Amino acid sequence: MAILYRAMDKEKKRENAMTSGAGRKHRLSILGSTGSIGTNTLDVIRQLGGRDRFDVLALTGSSNITLLAEQAVACGAKLAVTADAGQYAALKDALAGSGIAVAAGPPSGLLEAAAMDAEWVMAAIVGTAGLAPTLAAARRGADIALANKECLVSAGALFVETIGKAGGRLIPVDSEHSAIFQVLEEDQRHAVERIVLTASGGPFRTWTREQMADVTAEKARAHPNWSMGLKISIGSASMFNKALEMIEAKHLFNVRPEQIEVIVHPQSIIHSMVGYTDGSVLAQLGCPDMRTAIGYALTYPLRSTLGVDRLDFARLARLDFEAPDEERFPALRLARLALERDGLQGAIMNAAEETAFHAFVASRIGFLDMAEVVETVMDRMVDVAAATVIDDVFAADAEARVRAAEVIAAR
Ligand code: NAD
Ligand code: MG
Repeated sequence: MAILYRAMDKEKKRENAMTSGAGRKHRLSILGSTGSIGTNTLDVIRQLGGRDRFDVLALTGSSNITLLAEQAVACGAKLAVTADAGQYAALKDALAGSGIAVAAGPPSGLLEAAAMDAEWVMAAIVGTAGLAPTLAAARRGADIALANKECLVSAGALFVETIGKAGGRLIPVDSEHSAIFQVLEEDQRHAVERIVLTASGGPFRTWTREQMADVTAEKARAHPNWSMGLKISIGSASMFNKALEMIEAKHLFNVRPEQIEVIVHPQSIIHSMVGYTDGSVLAQLGCPDMRTAIGYALTYPLRSTLGVDRLDFARLARLDFEAPDEERFPALRLARLALERDGLQGAIMNAAEETAFHAFVASRIGFLDMAEVVETVMDRMVDVAAATVIDDVFAADAEARVRAAEVIAAR
């Protein structure tokens, strides 16, 4: 687990693959380019010099072929991949005559994208579907900019180890983890007392459980501050997103579960904080715009110039905080349970939550049922031994999905 930190310690001083070697173009790929993080990443790349500065090797998407083809042409990608094998012909048609190679399907198409020789790979696929291609990119030593938190939640130490062994770096993109990464003083790690993850509280922050019982996916996806993909928006409403982020934080920053705090901060201006033994708390602030965290991951340890809104403190006037309510938002309690139990409970929680999320979106279960399904599956799989190889993670993930489907069917 310390591998990431050893890597970060010395690497904080060396330039990112993306910023070293003045005058040469830097090779990058985006796994999940058509999503919310993917499109923001392409915007950051455009703002920072586009094709004059970066060589985009591979882009991947799934069903939105029109957007994927447009992106590939606009940035001059070498390879465009759809995860949806049924869309291969459509993508081939859309890119006919462009000279851009086309591939499809998991695993082969996504692995082909990951194998392209990019120095920096944005992992922005949603869910465990991103784990295999991200690992493939990590194994050939690429720096991984990680938005796809599910990789860390599922594979934890093995994921970090894979990156460390191959010589690449793991750079957080999730806004909270980017914030912590930005204010964590490497040479004062011994003095880190706690990390404080902020949470907006989502659209149901003040709702009772009775009110939440009947909400639809449409209501749940309406996030008050951030514009994001469907899964993470619903995860923000249920606070399962924060639950995943607690586990993500443990693996990224190598802290003990009791050092991880969550505080509800409805304005989403403080993106997270680190508390030190002398009572100081360092925070990173900014308007809620993922391009700041993406830009930092791209040019770290340097800062770039980005066209994002600036904070206007006078207009903002106040920042509010409140303790999270684990009764109304049991996902946070489940994250603590997964952290205590350790082993494969993160992978199990994540897979069960993904299955429950799909069932909720399909109106097969209610909003509050999601946490019940997850807890039942976690309890039933409490004896699963810790992973020694990545295949153990895939096996636990698959079993948790089957068990979650059974629990859902029995309701
Ligand atoms: P999104 O749904 O907008 O985009 C997901 C991307 O993954 C798309 O390109 C889609 O085509 C692709 N994809 C979907 N299913 C796939 C599959 N089965 N196989 C391969 N590719 C598939 O999601 P997003 O909001 O951009 O989130 C992406 C990741 O980043 C998630 O892990 C999320 O938790 C994390 N994240 C997102 C934000 C945000 O602001 N959106 C913030 C922090 C972290
Ligand atoms: Mg986040």
